[in-house]
Amino acid sequence: MGMFSSDIKSMDDLFVHTLRDIYYAEQQITKALPKMISQATNPELKGGFEQHLKETQGQVQRLEQVFKMHGVEAKGVTCPAIDGIIKEANEVAGEVADKAVLDAALVAAAQAVEHYEITRYGSLIAWAKQLGRQDCASVLQQNLDEEKATDKKLTAMAESKVNQQAV
Ligand code: FE
Ligand code: FE
Ligand code: FE
Repeated sequence: MGMFSSDIKSMDDLFVHTLRDIYYAEQQITKALPKMISQATNPELKGGFEQHLKETQGQVQRLEQVFKMHGVEAKGVTCPAIDGIIKEANEVAGEVADKAVLDAALVAAAQAVEHYEITRYGSLIAWAKQLGRQDCASVLQQNLDEEKATDKKLTAMAESKVNQQAV
């Protein structure tokens, strides 16, 4: 999908392109989370990342289900946004020595990831409904609900524990 070509001609094309974007993103997140699990010190944060890794693996399967329902090939397209968010997370983490401060940095990085996912799923669900694909919208809604719940949990962790340990 070149930047100057016009491969996206319809709302359906845009839906499929964005589905492939989030499919790629979820796969990159699946690869990034094990490192974040190993870097986290706070047991609640570590456990939260472990749980979200399992959820993310399920989200990849749901996306494959949506590709199938929509009758298109399940494949990813490079998402420069998620690559950038993960790169930034690694760069910041690499510069933090204190374990408690590292936990706070990991929470912030994870929330950047969740917020990207939330915007993508929000658009995908709206477009699926517009395209008359309530079935696809319902499956995508399950992923969105998990991202939103994860974001809330991260906020609660940051406010209650992680940031207070980092002084
Ligand atoms: Fe996800
Ligand atoms: Fe993207
Ligand atoms: Fe997520």
